[in-house]
Amino acid sequence: MPHIEKWEKTGTIERFIWEKFGEMGYFGLKYPEKYGGLDLDLFYTVIFLEELQKINSGGFAAAMWAHTYLALTHLNKEGSEEIKEKYLAAGISGEKIGCLCISEPFGGSDVAGMRSIAEKKGDKYILNGSKTFITNGVYSDFMVVAAKTDPEKGNKGISIFVIDSDSPGISTSKLNKLGWRASDTAEIAFDNVEIPAENLMGGENNGFSFIMQHFALERLIMGINAHARAEYALDYTMQYMSEREAFGNTIDRFQALRHRVAERVAEVEMCKEFNYSVAKRLNEGQSVVKEASMSKLLSTKIADEVIYDCLQFLGGYGYMEDYPLARLFRDSRLGPIGGGTSEILKEVIARIVIDKKEYKPRE
Ligand SMILES: Cc1cc2nc3c(=O)[nH]c(=O)nc-3n(C[C@H](O)[C@H](O)[C@H](O)COP(=O)(O)OP(=O)(O)OC[C@H]3O[C@@H](n4cnc5c(N)ncnc54)[C@H](O)[C@@H]3O)c2cc1C
Repeated sequence: MPHIEKWEKTGTIERFIWEKFGEMGYFGLKYPEKYGGLDLDLFYTVIFLEELQKINSGGFAAAMWAHTYLALTHLNKEGSEEIKEKYLAAGISGEKIGCLCISEPFGGSDVAGMRSIAEKKGDKYILNGSKTFITNGVYSDFMVVAAKTDPEKGNKGISIFVIDSDSPGISTSKLNKLGWRASDTAEIAFDNVEIPAENLMGGENNGFSFIMQHFALERLIMGINAHARAEYALDYTMQYMSEREAFGNTIDRFQALRHRVAERVAEVEMCKEFNYSVAKRLNEGQSVVKEASMSKLLSTKIADEVIYDCLQFLGGYGYMEDYPLARLFRDSRLGPIGGGTSEILKEVIARIVIDKKEYKPRE
């Protein structure tokens, strides 16, 4: 907490906190003990995510959860033993920072349309292309990268690699953005980057289904972040309203405001309970593609609306940087965009409920 203001201004999260989080075991909550993890059920992750939102820095929270649940999830699920020992263990201890590179400048929603190509040459792959909007991209030590290994085959020609960020041919630049300011969001170029063949994860051309499968966890995480962020905003706002006076009363006495608070609290509580039930099902190994999409779609929408109202209830102070609502307002706006836009989530849900499409997990 004492460092957040500085990191929000500089857009750089200092290394010591990564190491501290590693020491505290936070990066290994759901990973095997063999690699330094704690092998705990998903509800420890839920608590971790909720607590991160109370720091009120969407960027700091994103840096932490993108490392833990985007990059490390792929290493744990698809990485070889050697990869897990080298990268997963170092990621859990906080020694190495990871990022997940899927989105590209020519399109993020259309994952199958990616243009980066990894061409096999002997015992190496040669990677060319670019990625954009990558959380932790500039300061990472390793990158989990999706690229086409068989461009003719569309989504059946995508593979996933882990690459050292200091490999020759990789250049990164930092993007300036509306919110999530403490986090580093990068544009990355790959120019004839040599990847050792053993850094391929999950087999050649199997990447798309792994990406889709892990999207369920990412989307649930973003749903949980949203309910926790909205709850934090409401708690702060209700306290403020109980102290702020107008027309001889504290403003929480005005029925017009009370009813809006009541409605917003009810909406957040509904999201929270739903998100917990999806977490329980995911924890039991069930496929939750539809439910995780619903979680992110509605929780991020409701969080945006709640935070809009909370800012309004603070009046002019809501607009001031000295009060938490201004940053919450900026940070929250990413919810319906990152990790699958609301439009894409509606498409996924429509395919399941209308077209009866089934999404089966890949082993
Ligand atoms: C701060 C930040 C951090 C991010 N971190 C990461 C990261 O760590 N790793 C990573 O890989 N990516 C990351 N992303 C990328 C993010 O996942 C993409 O921005 C998102 O998936 C949308 O892709 P796009 O921006 O290319 O939008 P586009 O795909 O160009 O979409 C533009 C608009 O068209 C709509 N649209 C597109 N297709 C359809 C359709 N079929 N039907 C209806 N509407 C449609 C979209 O909903 C959107 O409104 C991050 C983005 C941001 C802003």
